[in-house]
Amino acid sequence: MENEKNGAALLRDLIREANRIVFLGGAGVSTESGIPDFRGSGGLYTERATIPPEVILSHTYFLNHTEEFYRFYREKMLFPDAKPNAAHKALAELERRGKLTAVLTQNIDGLHQAAGSKRVIELHGSVLRNHCVGCGRSYPLSFILGSSGVPLCPACGGVVKPDVVLYEEPLSENDLCDAERAIRSADLLIVGGTSLTVNPAAGLVLWFSGGKFVIINRDPTPYDGMANFVFREPIGKLLGEAVEAL
Ligand code: NAD
Repeated sequence: MENEKNGAALLRDLIREANRIVFLGGAGVSTESGIPDFRGSGGLYTERATIPPEVILSHTYFLNHTEEFYRFYREKMLFPDAKPNAAHKALAELERRGKLTAVLTQNIDGLHQAAGSKRVIELHGSVLRNHCVGCGRSYPLSFILGSSGVPLCPACGGVVKPDVVLYEEPLSENDLCDAERAIRSADLLIVGGTSLTVNPAAGLVLWFSGGKFVIINRDPTPYDGMANFVFREPIGKLLGEAVEAL
């Protein structure tokens, strides 16, 4: 069912009735923080690029064109000055109030934690963590930002790789199991800011069987037909207003 009017009030009522909310989100959650998504209007996929982003952000490309990978990665994937927006803050508030059990995110920007969320499953990792592929030493984002070309481990000379799940790389089994468990026990599943086209993250919604299923996304998704309510409004505005009105 598509809902056009008074979205925030309707969402507020759904949140009021729920006790175990799970949120599954993607790049669209952070566009209101100034981080472009991939497939939305103005997203990275709308740029005219000779090599598609999913090729550059693949494991094979990382291995064979490491310098070009880091050029793209630094320019397009790192936004160290971005701040949490109303969506991140509303979700953190719902957790504080004991209403939300988990945020499952495909994002790699760390903004949910920056907003105060504690139970965050980062399905695709985080740009904030990096490790040397040689000796395993950990490095913060500032190390990548402060380096140029291919970042090399000062201790062993190995390449320092972001703890981000690249295309062709598997997701953590533990994270997937935890995400599945959270969704199975949810009484309200809110999915937002994601095209729901990147698997296995998108397919997680299929584990939901109880209560209400809400999608908040500007563009249609393959799962809209399964949802009880679909909102096309900006997610920060809608979630922010709904939680404010609780
Ligand atoms: P996507 O780019 O495929 O889809 C984003 C969706 O969000 C689009 O359908 C768009 O209509 C919607 N959207 C954009 N802004 C919105 C807003 N303000 N309110 C409501 N809807 C909005 O993103 P995806 O499904 O997450 O898949 C892309 C992959 O790229 C993910 O794996 C993710 O890890 C990665 N990525 C992450 C970031 C980040 O960490 N911020 C940014 C870009 C890409």
